[in-house]
Amino acid sequence: MTLTMQDKAFLIGSIRDIHDFPKPGIIFKDITTLLSNKDAYAVLMRHLSERYASYNLTHIAGIDARGFIFGAALAQMLGIGFVPIRKTGKLPYTTVSEKYSLEYGVDEVEIHIDAFAGVDAPKVLLIDDLIATGGTAYAAANLINKVGAECVEACFIMGLDFLSGQSKLRELVEVYTVIGVD
Ligand code: AMP
Repeated sequence: MTLTMQDKAFLIGSIRDIHDFPKPGIIFKDITTLLSNKDAYAVLMRHLSERYASYNLTHIAGIDARGFIFGAALAQMLGIGFVPIRKTGKLPYTTVSEKYSLEYGVDEVEIHIDAFAGVDAPKVLLIDDLIATGGTAYAAANLINKVGAECVEACFIMGLDFLSGQSKLRELVEVYTVIGVD
């Protein structure tokens, strides 16, 4: 299902802008209002499941925490597995980790070392709600490759087009954003 201009406008309208959260100057894109709107959530998930039905994926990897919501639902719709990529210290088994820079300081994401074990040539879609600078997704895509899988695309519900994050990520993996935000 290709999204019409109306579908896109409907999805954009279902996402709430919260000014100055979590700090002054940031406009936080709140997807809880999309999730609680069953029609918006259905339009979005139908679009994603139709787009990725022909990709022969073996897994969806979702980024902590909002990537879990879209990723787990999509994995079920496609009949494939789901793998969480988490902030450091949350995963219970042996992990592989990757640091990335924030505006101030560094952060770290992790994946279980055996996340894709038992599957020949795993093909993975990475998903998150939003790409800003792209640092989190870049580290996450690296993690997928590090544990022996192919990250075939990184998918975001929203892309902040005024930031340069997407071009850096595109050096590593194909990038798809459902909605561009100016
Ligand atoms: P980045 O690594 O800069 O691309 O940041 C991406 C992560 O931060 C994603 O997990 C987003 O959920 C979150 N994020 C960054 N900026 C925003 C924003 N303006 N609104 C909502 N979430 C954001």
